[in-house]
Amino acid sequence: QRTGFAIVGLGRLALGQILPAMAKSKYCKPVALVSGDRAKAQKIAAQYGIPAGSIYDYTTYDQLAKNPAVQVIYIVLPNSMHAEYTIRGAKAGKHILCEKPMATTAHDCQRMIDACNAAGVKLMIAYRSQYEANDVALVKMIRAGRFGKLRQIVATNSQNQGDPSQWRLKKALAGGGCMPDVGVYCLNAARFLSNEEPYEVQASVVQPKDDPRFTEVESSCQFIARFPSGLVALCNSGYDAHKSQFLRVEGVEGWAEMHPAFAYTGIKLQYSKLVEGEEILHAPAIEEKDQFAAEMDHMALCVQQNLRPHTPGEEGLQDQIVTDAIYESAKTGRAVKIPAPKAPTRGP
Ligand code: NAD
Repeated sequence: QRTGFAIVGLGRLALGQILPAMAKSKYCKPVALVSGDRAKAQKIAAQYGIPAGSIYDYTTYDQLAKNPAVQVIYIVLPNSMHAEYTIRGAKAGKHILCEKPMATTAHDCQRMIDACNAAGVKLMIAYRSQYEANDVALVKMIRAGRFGKLRQIVATNSQNQGDPSQWRLKKALAGGGCMPDVGVYCLNAARFLSNEEPYEVQASVVQPKDDPRFTEVESSCQFIARFPSGLVALCNSGYDAHKSQFLRVEGVEGWAEMHPAFAYTGIKLQYSKLVEGEEILHAPAIEEKDQFAAEMDHMALCVQQNLRPHTPGEEGLQDQIVTDAIYESAKTGRAVKIPAPKAPTRGP
């Protein structure tokens, strides 16, 4: 049984990853497209066997309500548009899968959660890493006590942005610079790997005056997040450095690292292992599976079996609250406290 997805926004992620991953999924099929570019949508629809009558634009979007083939709307638009299209989609009676970052303000995240609750539809944020095989294996090892009590998480996620006119570098559309786009992977990993919520952050951002890409947003962000158990996460993200993706978890009894981490493919997990008293590097054989397909299959199963998604709206809201605290700390130069989440952030 396959659940029907409408894909909203036919940009790089939708065309390069999400639509191709549909074919690798077990429980999903693309059944509708929403795009401002009719000719592009027609071409993609033909390629994926989507009927021409199931192509919508941003003004006819609400008519998805009348399309029974669509059960889930997958929102793949610039960040600041996620709230509007989630709320309109919920009002159309459809379940929502929304790309990260969930929105650009905590207020919008809460409005999205409220709209989906009011409409009785599910809301999942597309945190693909939480469905990726190496990450899933690492979570299991951490929960089983393989590394003892966690003491430090070190993570970096950087890439070099080109075109200064792209929406990612516009504050109104992106919400910020590298932090909400790629830094959120470090933050989210620290939260889901530890299964704890940070109570305080201390941060700095760099915004070079002589680089036209960064007139509105930061080029790099560094933060320390402190967790109740004494765990500390040291995270860095960048928009002006060569692609660099790394994660390290340090516990009292061992460590694990992923290099690269956060990537679409080729993630490599390694961990320390004592063999006859000697510490060796162990690289487990983990079969590579398409993480976008795994993520979408999770959403489809939640719909089919009426389950709460593992990464619901509350998970995205908490990342936004911490992101706001990171910016506040960078601005004031002081540590900023974060209240404990009001609702559970992750489902089963
Ligand atoms: P993109 O720029 O390639 O695509 C965005 C799409 O939105 C385009 O088709 C564009 O035409 C459309 N659009 C509609 N209104 C627009 C407007 N006012 N301004 C600009 N574009 C507009 O971006 P993308 O890389 O596909 O990212 C889309 C979303 O997916 C973002 O929220 C991003 O954070 C997220 N993303 C997630 C991952 C991941 O690994 N999960 C990777 C990349 C992007």
